[in-house]
Amino acid sequence: MSVAVRFAPSPTGLLHVGNIRLALVNWLFARSQGGDFLLRLDDTDLERSTTDYAVGIERDLRWLGLEWDRFARQSDRLDRYALAVEKLKSAGRLYACYETAEELSLKRKSLLGRGLPPIYDRAALRLNDEDRARLEAEGRIPHWRFLLEHESVEWDDLVRGPQHFHGRDLSDPVLIREDGRTLYTLSSVVDDIELGISHVIRGEDHVANTAVQVQLWRALEGQVPGFAHLPLLTDATGAGLSKRLGSIGISHLRDEQGLEPMAVNSLLAKLGTSDAIEARTSLADLAAEFEMSKIARGSPKFDPEELARLNARVLHATEFESVRERLETMGFLGVDATFWEAVRPNLTVLADVAEWWHVAREPIEPVVEDTEFAAAAAALLPAEPWDETTWGAWTGAVKTATGRKGKTLFMPLRLALTGRDHGPELKNLLPLIGRDRAEARLAGRVA
Ligand code: GLU
Repeated sequence: MSVAVRFAPSPTGLLHVGNIRLALVNWLFARSQGGDFLLRLDDTDLERSTTDYAVGIERDLRWLGLEWDRFARQSDRLDRYALAVEKLKSAGRLYACYETAEELSLKRKSLLGRGLPPIYDRAALRLNDEDRARLEAEGRIPHWRFLLEHESVEWDDLVRGPQHFHGRDLSDPVLIREDGRTLYTLSSVVDDIELGISHVIRGEDHVANTAVQVQLWRALEGQVPGFAHLPLLTDATGAGLSKRLGSIGISHLRDEQGLEPMAVNSLLAKLGTSDAIEARTSLADLAAEFEMSKIARGSPKFDPEELARLNARVLHATEFESVRERLETMGFLGVDATFWEAVRPNLTVLADVAEWWHVAREPIEPVVEDTEFAAAAAALLPAEPWDETTWGAWTGAVKTATGRKGKTLFMPLRLALTGRDHGPELKNLLPLIGRDRAEARLAGRVA
């Protein structure tokens, strides 16, 4: 079976860091195995699914670079689920149940009260035709449960290792609601079989579903795929992601924080793995380093500060050609590689470019405290053309002429040339500022 994986969000909200990590791991697994990555929208919950969320999920995945090879939408496949229902019914694996939600909840409470696991007692299996007719005459509409085999279910999880469950420890899952709608437990397996999914990679909150679904795969005569259940992210203290952190979505990272997609990808690909967390500038690099066996069983801690640090490192490693268009769109017309390479080490977010663009290309207010020293330095400015050797030659001459060195030599020049006491290396910045501006700024003029 060729490798194919799917990321299956429900469009009942936007992507957040937790499910972005799952999307990324699926994508990296597919790429590292030469397989397909499928985006499947689990949109059968009509009350809560919206087109806006679906569009938002696709936009966010594209921003991250996680393009999909195939696409499926569960609402387009309802006829496939109906066929699977027929198949299960004729195999005697679905049975009608009439308990109300309150009755089920009472049963659960009573079992828990006796220290027993809240497993459905299969009372509905004991109903005969007459009982069913009577219940339906009372106006009850059945929901349908899948009859689990009381046999063991085992799989070798690619993250959690060998897993063992037994059918008798599980409740027969409801597959069809009273309103006739099929539930995720079934539709997901039908899709995974028909779309040729070789590996199901999802959160460990689905482990118990998997035990049930493996039996469904068998009942529907599909090939049971491989499984990887990833631990869920926690906050820096090890507690489950709070609503605040757990809901951090792409629009917050992209629009409010101005982060790079590769910072998000670099962090989420390595978090909770045996690899060090380092900046990577391409998904291809992350795919080349990806191995499912590197993912640890323990819950990884998500730290927004780490993301900010990584963002800076991603920018410092980014080549001009891959940001040129974005810089031009941001209004830095005529931007070139020399400028980018000069300012890149000083960026924490791309928007920081504006400050250094301003210093290099637009009039600024210089800071000149010692006018005599600044005038002496200005007099020694060499003729253009300037390059990255100009700064060294010029400051060497200023040092000889004034006897100043170290900070007392460099800081007044930086303040005059840039109006700031920090910034990119002046050997790179000086040629960008140019002789006319440098001379005017040393004279204390806005230039
Ligand atoms: N729609 C399900 C979820 O978001 C998909 C789970 C799965 O990957 O099977 O939890």
